[in-house]
Amino acid sequence: MTEKSRWLYETAQRVIPGGVNSPVRAFKSVGGSPRFIQSAFGAYLIDADGNRLIDYIGSWGPMILGHQHSHVLASIQSALTEGVSFGAPNAREVELAMMVTKLTGMEKVRFVSSGTEATMSALRLARAVTGRDYILKFRGNYHGHADGLLVEAGSGLMTNEQKLQARSAPSSAGVPQAYAGLTLVADYNDPEGLAQLLRDRGNTLAAIIFEPVVGNAGVLIPTAEFIDVLHSAKEQGILLIADEVMTGFRLSPGGATERLGLKPDIITWGKIIGGGLPVGAYGASAEIMDFVSPMGPVYQAGTLSGNPLAMAAGIGTLQTLRDNPEIYEKIEDYTERLEQGLLLAAAQAGISVCVNRIGSMLTMFFTEGPVQTYQDAVRSDTRLFAQWFHEMLNRGVYWAPSQFESIFVSAAHNERTLEHTLQAAASAFLTIK
Ligand code: PLP
Repeated sequence: MTEKSRWLYETAQRVIPGGVNSPVRAFKSVGGSPRFIQSAFGAYLIDADGNRLIDYIGSWGPMILGHQHSHVLASIQSALTEGVSFGAPNAREVELAMMVTKLTGMEKVRFVSSGTEATMSALRLARAVTGRDYILKFRGNYHGHADGLLVEAGSGLMTNEQKLQARSAPSSAGVPQAYAGLTLVADYNDPEGLAQLLRDRGNTLAAIIFEPVVGNAGVLIPTAEFIDVLHSAKEQGILLIADEVMTGFRLSPGGATERLGLKPDIITWGKIIGGGLPVGAYGASAEIMDFVSPMGPVYQAGTLSGNPLAMAAGIGTLQTLRDNPEIYEKIEDYTERLEQGLLLAAAQAGISVCVNRIGSMLTMFFTEGPVQTYQDAVRSDTRLFAQWFHEMLNRGVYWAPSQFESIFVSAAHNERTLEHTLQAAASAFLTIK
């Protein structure tokens, strides 16, 4: 039964564009009506009609510990008794900054309220430090909705069929060509293409911004050759910005940077760093970060930046991860078994899929593998994916409602959720066949 969700969706569409406050939530690429969520606990969501769903979205990444984790809740509750916002420095900002710098090796960090703000600010900083205007991003990578980054972007922009065909820069109406023109685009996992672009334009580039593991075109894992060419850009004075909004604190305590041995100059974070409350951040060496106001000439500010409740949620989450390092093994083991189970079930149904997985991030592409590039990803059969998605939802499994997204496993997923998911998947594959 989904009557209440449907009614809420109809009502929402009258007062909110498309009925949602972030486009992918509208199920546009898979069709049908989105579920409105009433509550969440552990690995489960409860929708407005009381249906219980195993959650593989985890609020698009932040809920690595599962919903309503006791330590995170206690941390937020303790902050709540002291006031919700001060607009002045508070000790929790210092505590979270100390944790982030220790875990990631960046010397200083500035908190903002979203991943978008983090990447936007990181680019301004890189331009100020280098005195150059151009930046480079990769096709199908998504870095939030700032003007200069909505160029051949992934995530929700990839789920729109028309955009896929058009593939023109910029990816959104309302982005002046003048901004988009400062953003060069290369193909992810194409080392030769990147090397050529660096030879041609390297000395004009302030920064290369990249998802160290892509989640927003579905999961794409960088090859060693690609990483080598990325690193070589530093010789031309280009700053490397690893956008770890999705991968930070997920792929290891030190994120994808630690896991893959990357050497970025600036890192951006979001999602897990706020434990489900709105937090983003960017960090770098003290030398770079001291360009930021009030130390330096790069202006960046925020009424709610460093908000005590948001800091408390981040502290509670990072403390739990720090004190229980086995969580990383546990979620990776679960996701690996999910991967194996999905491959087996698809093979038994005679359906071609390619599963890309790293740590607790996974995408099952409805295409033959390997899927290494944006072009490989868009070969997927999105119609078949949409059918499978709805079959899973009907069986109580809430997968990401787009072929071009990662799913996220949390510490709250367990044997029961795995068994349920794999049974649902096997039967869903047979139904769509
Ligand atoms: N960067 C990456 C890699 C992301 O995945 C996202 C969001 O999904 C963003 C930036 C933007 O973050 P936010 O949605 O918090 O603005």
